[in-house]
Amino acid sequence: MGDSSPGHFVVAVDGPSGSGKSSASRGAARALGLRYLDTGAMYRALTWWLMDAPADTADEALVASLAAKPVIEVGTDPDDPWTRVNGTDVSRDIRTREVSAQVSAVARVAAVRRHLIEQQRAIIAAAVSGIVAEGRDIGTVVAPDAPLKVFLTAASGARAQR
Ligand code: C5P
Repeated sequence: MGDSSPGHFVVAVDGPSGSGKSSASRGAARALGLRYLDTGAMYRALTWWLMDAPADTADEALVASLAAKPVIEVGTDPDDPWTRVNGTDVSRDIRTREVSAQVSAVARVAAVRRHLIEQQRAIIAAAVSGIVAEGRDIGTVVAPDAPLKVFLTAASGARAQR
């Protein structure tokens, strides 16, 4: 974290869901030749794995105890940002309504955030030529030293259409 050496260019893109963060971040990464990190995909991947177990995602203590169990990997190519859990590609499975409905309960658990934020910082540090990282806490918590911070909002009409 906090490596702002020349050549390690981190763009932090924060904003609420429905603000178009993902498409804007991917497009920016592609245009600038940077890697791309979708932190939401990591919370979704853990949620998918818990639901698949199955484990009760509303049970905070249980979720906390399982937070580090699955191996969650994300690809950082903006043209192909895959997500894997224990080696299985779950890029599509993590976008279901069921996962969307439960992910915020999982993301609220402190142990989950600690664990995934540590991984996110490692991914950002490894992207030596630079990365666009998106999520609601990138500029504030994950990469507070990012040289460029973008906060996206969307007009309520645009948000309703998503
Ligand atoms: O961005 P996306 O909608 O895929 O994120 C899914 C959920 O993961 C968010 O609604 C939020 O609950 C959680 N999240 C988070 N912190 C992040 C990214 C996502 O809490 N940095």
